[in-house]
Amino acid sequence: MNERRPAAGVAAGGIAPRPPMKLNRRVLALAGFGAAIALAPLPLPEFYVTLLNYIGLATLVALGLVVMTGVAGIVSFGQQAFVGVAAYATAGLTTLLGASPWSGLLASLALTAAAALLLGVVTLRLSGHYLSIATIAWGIAIYYLFGNLPALGQYSGIDNVPPVALGSWVFDSNRKSYYLIWVVVVAALVAAHNLLDSRSGRAIRALRFRSAMAESCGVDTSALRLVVFVYAALLAGMAGWLHAHFLRFVSPHAFGVNAGIDYLFMAVIGGASHVWGALVGASIMTLLKEWLKDVLPALLQHTGNFEAIVFGALMIVLLQRTRDGLAPALARRLPRAPRTWPADAPALPRRERPPPGAPLLDVAGLGKRFGGLVAVDDVSFTLASGEILGLIGPNGAGKSTTFNLISGALAADGGSVQLLGERIDRLPARGIARRGLGRTFQHVHLVSRMSVLDNVALGAHLRGAKGTLAAMLRGDRAEERRLLAEAARQIQRVGLAEHLHDAAGSLPLGRQRLVEIARALAGDPVLLLLDEPAAGLRHGEKRALAELLRRLRDDGVSILLVEHDMEFVMGLVDRLVVMDFGQKLAQGLPHEIRAHPAVIEAYLGGVE
Ligand code: ADP
Ligand code: MG
Repeated sequence: MNERRPAAGVAAGGIAPRPPMKLNRRVLALAGFGAAIALAPLPLPEFYVTLLNYIGLATLVALGLVVMTGVAGIVSFGQQAFVGVAAYATAGLTTLLGASPWSGLLASLALTAAAALLLGVVTLRLSGHYLSIATIAWGIAIYYLFGNLPALGQYSGIDNVPPVALGSWVFDSNRKSYYLIWVVVVAALVAAHNLLDSRSGRAIRALRFRSAMAESCGVDTSALRLVVFVYAALLAGMAGWLHAHFLRFVSPHAFGVNAGIDYLFMAVIGGASHVWGALVGASIMTLLKEWLKDVLPALLQHTGNFEAIVFGALMIVLLQRTRDGLAPALARRLPRAPRTWPADAPALPRRERPPPGAPLLDVAGLGKRFGGLVAVDDVSFTLASGEILGLIGPNGAGKSTTFNLISGALAADGGSVQLLGERIDRLPARGIARRGLGRTFQHVHLVSRMSVLDNVALGAHLRGAKGTLAAMLRGDRAEERRLLAEAARQIQRVGLAEHLHDAAGSLPLGRQRLVEIARALAGDPVLLLLDEPAAGLRHGEKRALAELLRRLRDDGVSILLVEHDMEFVMGLVDRLVVMDFGQKLAQGLPHEIRAHPAVIEAYLGGVE
């Protein structure tokens, strides 16, 4: 074991995935969990085994919601409809056409995936809550479809669904079904845990934040949102298939809109961003519901659906007390594995760098309007390799907009941008990142609950290639070690080694800006775009930052720096471009700019 331990580092809270634990602890923990699952039904009466089966099915659906809603921030109220589609698909195929449950499984998953793809393609591109609203509509539509189609038995459903058989082994009792269900649940939990602790997992965590950040790291956010949506639907589909063959019948009542809200409750109660939260939430909800069903009517001397009211009240209490659900609170009480990083992993290949002085960036006639406001008006300048170019000007001059046009976060109305002789102004931000442009944001964009190490590793996204499937099956470990090692190196480079495992959001602003620089560096950029990196820094921090930027330039990273702190810029940059009211006002060496009458006028007579 060549793994080095970090000298210090406060444990990152909540959703931060852990660096690889020591093997023996991990195996031990898993073996213990496996044994508990295997032995649980032995002493239990039939009724509780059935309950455990329900918990298993609910865990699968809630797990999809944990990843999709809790981690990626996409809210769906329609998971029960995916469960239903899968359950009906396999029930219909096996009873009406006499197919085997295994063909039913293929059909169930294919149908849920297709439905999710269709729903996702139509709604995911729209921002805001369109998807959530669409999932409600989809849930209602599916419920009434099941209830009204004569071929599907209308509201009485389909019965006599055959049990699953594996060779001569038939899962035809509660106890046998228990093992089928829980093997799937455990596999899904482990796969989801692996997924979140990977290159794709970091990208998924970044989805809930402004997509400009993830895109600037090279993540195709629309495609990934679709993948996550289909993934969650497939977990629900898996639950649907198991449901049909364990209960041996399907009816629309299990797939009503209420069920969809229950699943969301489970994810929230358990901890909407924690894989094990799905299990905790599903257990608590299922048991509580069962118990309340007995207790409440006796207590109130009335029959009725009182659970819903009690659940609502409990939710409010719970969210007051533990914002993040129960799973993280429980996890905090368990001993933590020592945090390590793979210091010995082989370095990633680096990009070829143009020789110093070679033309790197060529901005020509760039323009951008926001309605009637011309934010950037016919701006042209060039930047040579090995140079630090300052872009300065009063507030509202159009610096950030220019910056966003170059990095592809905004589309230009006119003009062109070339990087290393190639037109980049029609490319999406992730395409520009791929060609060697790294950037930071004026308002820091970090995944605040993720560790500094993972935030920076997100910046190396394009230097890896392993996708979601490889991550779930742990086929990504060698690449992952190289990505994390690269991230750790960049963190050391900006001087944050002692914060490697801290939650990024726990650092003071000045350090968060450094994390953003490290994240941009992890992409091995030829050109680094920094938007007001010195804003909010103290004097000493500014000096250290200037020192860092000089060092980076000496290492061959060219820098375009947007700044309005003149003092900071003057001692640092090689050349300056001055903007005012969207136009280029002047350009030249620092001492020329300092004496330029129009610049003095803009700064002294302007809004500053
Ligand atoms: P700077 O970074 O130099 O302070 P900006 O590029 O942020 O300036 O803004 C230039 C002008 O464009 C400002 O007047 C600002 O209000 C306007 N602006 C910037 N972004 C938008 C936007 N998304 N929609 C409308 N107006 C915008
Ligand atoms: Mg700005």
